[in-house]
Amino acid sequence: DDHIVYEHHVAALAFPFSTHASPTLALVRRLAAASPNTLFSFFSTSQSNNSLFSNTITNLPRNIKVFDVADGVPEGYVFAGKPQEDIELFMKAAPHNFTTSLDACVAHTGKRLTCLITDAFLWFGANLAHDLGVPWLPLWLSGLNSLSLHVHTDLLRHTIGTQSIAGRENELITKNVNIPGMSKVRIKDLPEGVIFGNLDSVFSRMLHQMGQLLPRANAVLVNSFEELDIAVTNDLKSKFNKLLNVGPFNLAAAASPPLPEAPTAADDVTGCLSWLDKQKAASSVVYVSFGSVARPPEKELMAMAQALEASGVPFLWSLKDSFKTPLLNELLIKATNGMVVPWAPQPRVLAHASVGAFVTHCGWSSLLETIAGGVPMICRPFFGDQRVNARLVEDVLEIGVTVEDGVFTKHGMIKYFDQVLSQQRGKKMRENINTVKLLAQQSVEPKGGSAQNFKLLLDVISGSTKV
Ligand code: UDP
Repeated sequence: DDHIVYEHHVAALAFPFSTHASPTLALVRRLAAASPNTLFSFFSTSQSNNSLFSNTITNLPRNIKVFDVADGVPEGYVFAGKPQEDIELFMKAAPHNFTTSLDACVAHTGKRLTCLITDAFLWFGANLAHDLGVPWLPLWLSGLNSLSLHVHTDLLRHTIGTQSIAGRENELITKNVNIPGMSKVRIKDLPEGVIFGNLDSVFSRMLHQMGQLLPRANAVLVNSFEELDIAVTNDLKSKFNKLLNVGPFNLAAAASPPLPEAPTAADDVTGCLSWLDKQKAASSVVYVSFGSVARPPEKELMAMAQALEASGVPFLWSLKDSFKTPLLNELLIKATNGMVVPWAPQPRVLAHASVGAFVTHCGWSSLLETIAGGVPMICRPFFGDQRVNARLVEDVLEIGVTVEDGVFTKHGMIKYFDQVLSQQRGKKMRENINTVKLLAQQSVEPKGGSAQNFKLLLDVISGSTKV
């Protein structure tokens, strides 16, 4: 296909950790389908690319090319097991690892770059795009709520201070300052590295830099929809050149023409979906998952297993094999009222009529997927944006509950299963989430906000609209 003369060439730079690369690729796929005369070059580490594409790279549309970037791990390096060790090595190698691969890509394709999309974490995209003389379009894969916190980090440091927060955990962050749409957020909900935790870690500095540089972006792309949080949307619109909510990606993909989908995790290899089919009562099953990174302490996993068994509710638990200790295994054998799998086709599970509650760490993709499924949440946030997401769920949207004292206990979970599956409180949450679901669906319909923003994004990419 080398004879095709592409009019434009977009480079998309992924953040190769946790589940960031996958939604970045989802956006690239949508763009590539809508803009066949544009070449999209996708960059991630070889490890990330291997797991994203496994053996399906041949199914990619012809206008998407995939390139590896160096992961920054020195030859013969032995990991010490420190948190974020891989991220630190990677960020130390950046942006040089990316510029090397970008140069190789341009040489290989013979097509100079006309636009740069980067994961918003990769703040140096501002400089790369400037040097290339092309628009910079950072992509924020979490909610507008956490994005607001990173944009307002200096203000928060100034008004709350960066000393100990002991005794002030439950204070509202807006006690002494107005941050639109954030009036329910408490100090303890902030991501580490904003005002507490290690402010000097590579990760904290990355997010701080990002917050400072995003106003320089031509447009900031977000995996969300405006109606979810209008006050925050309007505030960020006033801070950025352009704010383009183009999500939820999980619904937007379904609303656009079918893509040549790769046979991936969507397949029901573990039999979850056929098991759910056999559950007769609608909204009766508890689905449990903590995403790709969070690891609850063994004590909490044991409490969860005991609660599931004692309550007798049908359950589906996505639990990594590496989390299963001998003690936990003993409990799981007794819990015959459910199914434990190492990985579930989550979006399809949450869309299944049998599922009535979702025990979640409140990762952003999980939150959008449960909105699409209309399933209320029982939140147990761990780190990063998860606490502020849980606050949005419980206090703003009222579509779920956060576990008391922040940890799973047997009696607490039995109570929440009952509340969400059987009581009036759960019924109200289900009504609320169906309202949010409708707004999400409307946003990706042709006249909806996210669909319109996507069109504008295509115009920016083709150069017909300057931002
Ligand atoms: N996921 C899945 N099967 C599982 C567990 C998770 O498909 O058994 C997917 C889930 O659908 C979501 C992603 O992994 O798209 C997790 O992303 P999220 O932002 O919720 O959390 P993170 O992993 O980034 O903490």
